[in-house]
Amino acid sequence: MKFIETRGNDGQSPEHVSFSEAILSPMSSYGGIYVPETLPQLDNDFLEQHLDQDYKTLAKGVLAAFEIDIDADIIDEALALYDAFDDNKNPAPLVKVKQDLYVSELYHGPTRAFKDMALQPFGRVLSSLAQAKNENYLILAATSGDTGPAALETFKNRDNVKVVCLYPNGGTSDVQRLQMVTEDADNLKVIGVHGDFDDTQTALKALLSSKRFNAKLNEKNIKLSAANSVNFGRIIFQLIYHLHSYLELVRQSAIKLGDKVYLDVPSGNFGNALGAYYAMQMCLPVEKILIASNKNNVLTQFINTGLYDLRTLAVIPTTSPAMDILKSSNIERILYDLFGAQRTKSLMLQLDQEQYYQLNNDELAQLQAVFSADFCSDEEGKDYIQSTFATGYLMDPHTATCFKAYETCREKKGVTIVYSTAEWTKFSPVIANALTNIKGVSDIDALQSIANTANIEIPSQINALFSKKVVQTTLIDKADIEKEILAFL
Ligand SMILES: *Cc1c(COP(=O)(O)O)cnc(C)c1O
Repeated sequence: MKFIETRGNDGQSPEHVSFSEAILSPMSSYGGIYVPETLPQLDNDFLEQHLDQDYKTLAKGVLAAFEIDIDADIIDEALALYDAFDDNKNPAPLVKVKQDLYVSELYHGPTRAFKDMALQPFGRVLSSLAQAKNENYLILAATSGDTGPAALETFKNRDNVKVVCLYPNGGTSDVQRLQMVTEDADNLKVIGVHGDFDDTQTALKALLSSKRFNAKLNEKNIKLSAANSVNFGRIIFQLIYHLHSYLELVRQSAIKLGDKVYLDVPSGNFGNALGAYYAMQMCLPVEKILIASNKNNVLTQFINTGLYDLRTLAVIPTTSPAMDILKSSNIERILYDLFGAQRTKSLMLQLDQEQYYQLNNDELAQLQAVFSADFCSDEEGKDYIQSTFATGYLMDPHTATCFKAYETCREKKGVTIVYSTAEWTKFSPVIANALTNIKGVSDIDALQSIANTANIEIPSQINALFSKKVVQTTLIDKADIEKEILAFL
């Protein structure tokens, strides 16, 4: 399978690259990103054959359909990392919450958020490729709180890869911050930045395209890669669990194979939703993909009106911070798939220059044939957490945003899969507040409060964070990021 560029080729970059090239060097012509030249076509038979197979076998089937240039033994080692998830047979359990609403829990990996689903195997693949080529890579990650811990965890002590992780100071939960600042390995550096996530991400993007910075890396014989969801290596591992959750529905006799379902995805950079979209294009019977947002509802407006508009927007801090995003990177891959490279290039250029673009009516109709969207305020989210807990299910504030879309976006009756992206332990003050109205407590007190109210235990790896030594203490202004990174290298 060859990979090509969302904004077309500039005559300098190679016209096609392999999977391994696309994941080692994910930036492409005109600031675009890589996409598969065509999507492999699977069918109901493929789904049926995997009904009595485990997750890893399904994953191998999907990866094989993409014909990626990764050795089978590396794939095996990468997928073996799912064995360390809570249930070694099933990394992503599906739980019935209402008659027609099932939750796919994607947070059973080491850092308790859905980023592990892709980053665990991805990290293994990337470092194996780097070792085989005898090259050194730098991963620069800007995180709103979950990518950082998951990236550090997967690359910790791996050869030929260094990770620098930037997080917005004050923009993460205590648990997320502790997961990062207690990571102790020579190839990892964690930097707190004054500002919000968009500031941090923008500063990072400027650095990635800076000639001077790249020349300095060159001198040190270090190449740049990326671990965010612009890297297709993330996406490929994210479309697998959408097939898996559908198969789980069939296994639990909630649907028959071939029935259409709604996929309800809490969205930020749109990697999770893009995985759902690709799964649907490849074979999955899907009525609509529901895009859930919080008050940062640029995606809701886009899907409902075709207008992607950043002109008057500033990030609003919410209780679901992993979705506090305005420039949603993977929308670009949707634009490419629906409208082609030329149109994608002109829309993305307009977004860069004028801070908005508007789809025409035909384009909007194509977009709406696949997606519906709604957003959920913090107050509504709190109510969903509370009322759902009253029926016996505990969920985090990101997952809660999906319950609004479930209520407002479905045109038909149909089973809905809500994707749960974080464990309750990662956003405990918000959840504790929803359950018992306590306010202003720290994470550790909130964790204890939830544990008491729900009669569950705080997982040991979360508890341990509070007594671990903080080793990563750097806190800087965004102007100093480049200097700090070069000093580390
Ligand atoms: C990353 C993240 C999201 C957003 O996922 P995208 O793939 O970026 O849309 C939602 N919820 C949580 C908890 C996350 O960590």
